[in-house]
Amino acid sequence: MSETRLREEICEFGKSLFDRGLTAGSSGNISVRLDDGWLLTPTNACLGRLDPARLAKLDWSGKLISGDPGSKEAFLHRAMYEERSGAGAIVHLHSTYSAAVSCMGGLDHGSCIPPLTAYFVMKIGRLPLVPYNRPGNPQLGDAIRGLAGRHSAVLLANHGPVVSGTTLEAAVYATEELEETAKLFILLHGHRTHALGEAQIAELKQAFKLDF
Ligand SMILES: [Zn+2]
Repeated sequence: MSETRLREEICEFGKSLFDRGLTAGSSGNISVRLDDGWLLTPTNACLGRLDPARLAKLDWSGKLISGDPGSKEAFLHRAMYEERSGAGAIVHLHSTYSAAVSCMGGLDHGSCIPPLTAYFVMKIGRLPLVPYNRPGNPQLGDAIRGLAGRHSAVLLANHGPVVSGTTLEAAVYATEELEETAKLFILLHGHRTHALGEAQIAELKQAFKLDF
């Protein structure tokens, strides 16, 4: 896909996410890998009103090549790309239900949301929790690096999810699946719940060649 088309896609998906309330204000950021660097949504930009020509184009050291300065959360994206050579795009949101789960006590830090549905298992797999660090703390990048080799998505404690995909469409759909499953998890809180078992997960892993 051409860089021009990828720029348009970032703006189209950004608007779609914003219009449906999956991101608010100037929170959230989207990036896409290019042959000669990567594109990232600008700092303090609203995902609902992005301009394709003003997206930040960065090199792999994080230096701005063109466009507006990139999001201050660029290092979250870089950490994920560095560990996942197959990642073509990354979406990071503060979406309500995923962020709510990230604030809950008593989570299983290796798997924050149980395997409630087959689609959650297929699109996210196991979702680990990254311990809280203040925004901009490089330790957050190090913590992501430690997990991203084995996980296409992670949940930042008291913050929100970082989700990678082979394409931007795949990353956006996985982010939406995560948000919907987080909603189910919260709705089910206090109810007797039957999640998928080990045998059902093993069957999904085999049938859909999942590696997590
Ligand atoms: Zn954030």
